[in-house]
Amino acid sequence: MVVMVRTSNPAQDSLPEGWPEEPPDAESLDREPQCSSAAPQSTPYAPSDACLNWLFVDLNSYFASVEQEVRPELRGRPVAVVPAMVDTTCCIAASYEAKAYGVKTGTIVADAKRMCPDIVLVEARHELYVEYHHRIVEAVETCVPVTVVLSIDEMACRLMGRERPLLAALELGRRVKARIREAVGSTLRSSVGLATNRYLAKVASDMEKPDGLVALPPDILPDALRQLTLRDLPGIGARTEKRLNEQGIRSMEDLLALDCEQTGQLWGSVCGERLWHWLRGEDFDMAEAEHAKSLSHQHVLAPEMRTPEKAWAVAHKLLHKAAMRLRTGRLWASGIGLAVGFAVPRGQNVPVSRFGVPARGWRGEVRLSECQDNPTLIAALRRLWEQRPSGPGYDQPYFIGVSLNELVPDQLHSLNLFDELDGAKSRTKLLATMDALNHKYGMSTLAPATMLTAYKAAPTRIAFHSIPDLF
Ligand SMILES: [Mg+2]
Repeated sequence: MVVMVRTSNPAQDSLPEGWPEEPPDAESLDREPQCSSAAPQSTPYAPSDACLNWLFVDLNSYFASVEQEVRPELRGRPVAVVPAMVDTTCCIAASYEAKAYGVKTGTIVADAKRMCPDIVLVEARHELYVEYHHRIVEAVETCVPVTVVLSIDEMACRLMGRERPLLAALELGRRVKARIREAVGSTLRSSVGLATNRYLAKVASDMEKPDGLVALPPDILPDALRQLTLRDLPGIGARTEKRLNEQGIRSMEDLLALDCEQTGQLWGSVCGERLWHWLRGEDFDMAEAEHAKSLSHQHVLAPEMRTPEKAWAVAHKLLHKAAMRLRTGRLWASGIGLAVGFAVPRGQNVPVSRFGVPARGWRGEVRLSECQDNPTLIAALRRLWEQRPSGPGYDQPYFIGVSLNELVPDQLHSLNLFDELDGAKSRTKLLATMDALNHKYGMSTLAPATMLTAYKAAPTRIAFHSIPDLF
């Protein structure tokens, strides 16, 4: 049995694709990281007093819904969002009404017009979608902190303490959905998935669209997963499916019958084994399993932040955060990377990024001798920043990602010959003290003077989200 709760009238079946005025109550604010088993006795859903760890939010028909939100005359009508008003391009989003005609993301506009003669084409307004993205994250955060933003319309939240029992998690899911509609817009519908790990929470969010609320507690896992197809699993696209079929794996039944080693061999990489554990509900932080190979922080800049000066300040702040995590994890970085997305005015034939902005991307990386101190990292970041492309088309940075790469754990860190000579030990101790204070009292309690400009220029609140790959 899949625990499935619908929170509003089921809309017509949609084709594939693809966040409480009440403030969080005292109970949900109590986020102690342990499982409470205070599930009420009588429940229509669940035999289970299982605890869930993740809540995944996926907005349905996101771009089209935002358009219907800001243009009420489009509500109830089949709408397709297109990059440009030409028949040869393809739809980048379709409203529920358009999906009922078979129009979906990727449908060529000429075909969409044939399939649905009444379709309303709307030219994409990416800045609007980014603005709504920020509002949605804010709305979700009034219910539960957002742990990671995965795309412009997807985010995952780690549940803690009293949020974790099944019924409490379902209630939280309902509040998140309602909050999005109340605080951001009544046309915005979302599918929420709940599970013991983030992977399965995403799978659950995909199981009921639009407007779904699905929980996959551990006791129903094998049965619930058997109802799916291989392609329902994130990370299994057409190519992987074909490869699996060739190896005799044609259904979820087949896949679930394999042991961990066999699943690993099937993928020929650690991905297979990881998937095996995820499908059994195990929760481990994918970035921190064993030790992290890299850690990164990314930020989509609000339109008013898209100047080189402000973007640099954000990059600086992201690095500060990443460096704290580096030291907390007793890791050393042997490389640093900077990714910058430059927004390009609409009308140019430029691909749309996963954050929905037509953009050109740039990425630079430099190698470092193993380090974890701010001055070295900031100097390297500055060098990278100066290498970014400039000139027309590169003056509106809208996305910044900072990564620390080729991480080495403390025990493998080879002592630098010069460590003793340049006071590295006392510097390390100073940084550890600073990090401890910042962890306790907030990010800007203590910062090196080099960071002050960043704090002044950067927004008062940056949602520091790392975006690890799901697969
Ligand atoms: Mg979606």
